[in-house]
Amino acid sequence: MADLEKFRAETASWLDANAPQSIRGLNLSDLEGSWGGRKAIYSIPDMKVWLDIMAERGWTSPTWPVEYGGGGLSKEEAKVLREEMNRLRLPPPLIGFGLTMIGPTLLQFGNEEQKKQHLTAICRGEIRWCQGYSEPGAGSDLASLQMKAVRDGDDFILNGQKVWTSYADLSDWIFCLVRTNPDVKKQAGITFILVDMETPGVSVVPTRLISGKSPFCETYFDDVRCPVANVVHKIDAGWTVAKALLSHERSMVAGVFGGGRARAKGKRSRLVELADRYVGMREGRIADPVVRDQMAQSEMDTRSFSLTVQRSADAAKAGHQPGAESSFFKVYGTEVNMRRHELMVRIMGERALGWEGPGFEDDELELTRDWLRSRGNSLEGGSNEIQLNIIAKHVLGLPD
Ligand SMILES: Cc1cc2nc3c(=O)[nH]c(=O)nc-3n(C[C@H](O)[C@H](O)[C@H](O)COP(=O)(O)OP(=O)(O)OC[C@H]3O[C@@H](n4cnc5c(N)ncnc54)[C@H](O)[C@@H]3O)c2cc1C
Repeated sequence: MADLEKFRAETASWLDANAPQSIRGLNLSDLEGSWGGRKAIYSIPDMKVWLDIMAERGWTSPTWPVEYGGGGLSKEEAKVLREEMNRLRLPPPLIGFGLTMIGPTLLQFGNEEQKKQHLTAICRGEIRWCQGYSEPGAGSDLASLQMKAVRDGDDFILNGQKVWTSYADLSDWIFCLVRTNPDVKKQAGITFILVDMETPGVSVVPTRLISGKSPFCETYFDDVRCPVANVVHKIDAGWTVAKALLSHERSMVAGVFGGGRARAKGKRSRLVELADRYVGMREGRIADPVVRDQMAQSEMDTRSFSLTVQRSADAAKAGHQPGAESSFFKVYGTEVNMRRHELMVRIMGERALGWEGPGFEDDELELTRDWLRSRGNSLEGGSNEIQLNIIAKHVLGLPD
């Protein structure tokens, strides 16, 4: 404990001395550049300074081993670091699929060269990753994927199409599931491979969403030559790697809703701010008792979920890898988030029906789009119906 308190004091003073003043209190939504990568644009230049300072210390990925660019911290020390960053209202220096998905997967399944090449670049925010899993005929039934990889000497030749590839247009590398053997049980002929998006034959077409934004792409592979050395784990054994990565993804999706930054003491929640503005207060309470009741339920659900995620994170200290239970977090976390957005829209009434132009405040228009974006939460990372099937089979042990 004494060591941890010493670490806390040193961390607090180091952060205070090194974190640029201009980034304190920034929201994640302000942080375009913080996904890193070759195409990153830092609209707030000090975010790049912050990234470099933290990467130098290994604190973009505090618990990863030092030899791969991490901080080598214990889970307890990493928690202290998070707490001290929250206290100073410091945003994360780097976010993205490198840190949350492919990085942890490479630590588990990658060979030494792959770890050295990719993990260090991820920690420094040099390379941005995207996920090439879904195909037009393979979403929930992912193992039906058809993108072909045919061996040619030391390379594979890739042909096929991926869909819903989030941020493919801004990414540098993609981790893909490809079919290397069509003649065996479908799960047994899949390989997990890493592809540089600059390789000739890779092309990307953005897809526009209901929210007006376009984070998705279709990604095409036409005779793309990719070294066999880029296979993670073994040829035809990609399904094992794919499932491990999905567990990390589901934990990440759940963590976004359950493990977010603690609200500063005394700061009102977004729900209360909205209710105050659109419903009004009477005798120090939200005027409408039905809305008040729904808000109390939402706050309790959010808080309980956050504590459960925290409990699971503490259990992970013993080295526990996320398994089928990450499906539970994914279902519940996304449902709580979607219900919360619906409640915000209900509180705002007709003010939540704007799309563009005058007549609505910017934050009102943004909330409408955020609400529409939240509809995708139950699908991304594997749909909630599929998660319920996984829970039934692998957690509860129910028959197929
Ligand atoms: C915001 C967002 C980001 C995404 N990002 C990526 C990405 O970066 N990379 C990537 O590869 N993919 C990505 N996806 C795709 C996502 O993984 C798929 O949308 C998801 O796996 C569902 O597949 P599908 O869309 O083909 O739906 P389908 O599989 O066609 O399912 C349609 C509906 O049928 C239900 N259903 C299907 N099978 C069953 C069953 N057996 N039992 C009960 N219900 C069933 C589903 O639950 C769903 O409601 C993203 C999706 C979203 C929404």
